[in-house]
Amino acid sequence: MNHPPIGLTERPTHTQLRLTTHGPEETVALGRRIGQAIQSNLFIALSGDLGAGKTTFTAGLAAGLGIPVPVTSPTFTLVNDYTFDKLSTSATGRGAQARRLAHMDVYRLEGSSAAELDGIGFGDLLDDLEAADDCGLLVLVMEWADRLGPLLPEERLDVTSVSDEEDPDVRVFTLTARGETATALLQRLAEA
Ligand code: ADP
Ligand code: MG
Repeated sequence: MNHPPIGLTERPTHTQLRLTTHGPEETVALGRRIGQAIQSNLFIALSGDLGAGKTTFTAGLAAGLGIPVPVTSPTFTLVNDYTFDKLSTSATGRGAQARRLAHMDVYRLEGSSAAELDGIGFGDLLDDLEAADDCGLLVLVMEWADRLGPLLPEERLDVTSVSDEEDPDVRVFTLTARGETATALLQRLAEA
């Protein structure tokens, strides 16, 4: 598999990986690497301030999943749902399989209450996530996910990005696995 240079500082444990990116291209490359390594349905909870690189990361994630369209920020739409039937993804080395990426941004949700979340179809998306992946792969990625607190699913991959105070191009990403699926994913990433 073709891994673009990422220039990462890696600190793998089995459940946490910390990586530094130097510029948006490296963040896209990080997202792409993760997208390529995902094998089953997954919730990815993104946290970090405005400009931390959450949307940039998601663009890479989509590319790694084989989503053939550019990803734009759902800050105003709250959710962008990309669904594709049996993509031919020879570029990513995967077999043809239906793919769905639901990209949410809860920045504009006032209270991040359960009722508001249901208004944007969050409960249905979680149900779809629980369903078996044999009809396709579903990845749910949410910006500002830390605002949901206990409403987040317990099984997930947490991705936190922190901007460097001195270098405007540097972001430190911390990936924390919660549950088996995300742990296996981080192990594959650490071994790759
Ligand atoms: P968020 O969605 O977290 O608000 P965006 O991904 O929309 O952040 O924007 C990140 C901004 O920071 C972009 O303008 C991008 O060019 C810039 N940037 C600079 N360095 C990096 C980096 N290492 N990773 C991601 N974005 C970076
Ligand atoms: Mg964003």
